Amino acid sequence: MSQEVVRVLVVEDEPNIRELVCLHLRHEGYTCDPAADGQAGLAKAQADTYNLMVLDLMLPGLDGLSLCRAVRNGRLNADVPILMLTAKREEADKVVGLESGADDYLTKPFGVRELVARARALLRRPRHGASTAAASATEALLTIRGIEIDVPRRKVRVDSRDVELTDQEFRLLHLLATHPGIVFSREARLSKIWRGDTYVTVRSVDTLVKRLRRRVEAEPANPAFIQTVWGVGYKFADA
Ligand code: CA
Repeated sequence: MSQEVVRVLVVEDEPNIRELVCLHLRHEGYTCDPAADGQAGLAKAQADTYNLMVLDLMLPGLDGLSLCRAVRNGRLNADVPILMLTAKREEADKVVGLESGADDYLTKPFGVRELVARARALLRRPRHGASTAAASATEALLTIRGIEIDVPRRKVRVDSRDVELTDQEFRLLHLLATHPGIVFSREARLSKIWRGDTYVTVRSVDTLVKRLRRRVEAEPANPAFIQTVWGVGYKFADA
């Protein structure tokens, strides 16, 4: 059986980091396409589809944030997972918190194991456009930290107690629980759990999270599962 090719676009102006990232991603069996500045990266993103993008924030010409937005608004890679590389943690919070559309970030200097782990996690994440039925078939029953999620039946049990969830609550829980430790920004990612026809504000995301916590958390004010990442969004506890 032939293996599916995983294509990664790496946009980084520092040659050493670019080569290091590509080296380790290739080692994972991914096909790596390097670009040395934002314009070159955008040209590639507009010409080809990718499974993952690794974008440096500070790039000559077109910066990483603008590139990220252009990719999200583009035709070919609108729902590609994007990992941003940033120099500082404060920058990283902005990157994921603003409407850039980045999915995750790594602050420099980073370890190659961390890079590979984040890349793998992003590649495992179901794409927005992918059918949920296909995802459900592979993960019919998900158990994570005392929460059982029966995907086809849309049933949830917390510590062996049945919990009634609305469709939106269920979708939010499923999205977070299938990606423990990954931060979902309120603007860029969590709004996608609403069906396309609703206008979603940051406040509607917060309200939904509050409702979900009341249903699944023993202490909603001190959540064990659905954690707040201040100024950014939410994640499912990973430890
Ligand atoms: Ca740079």
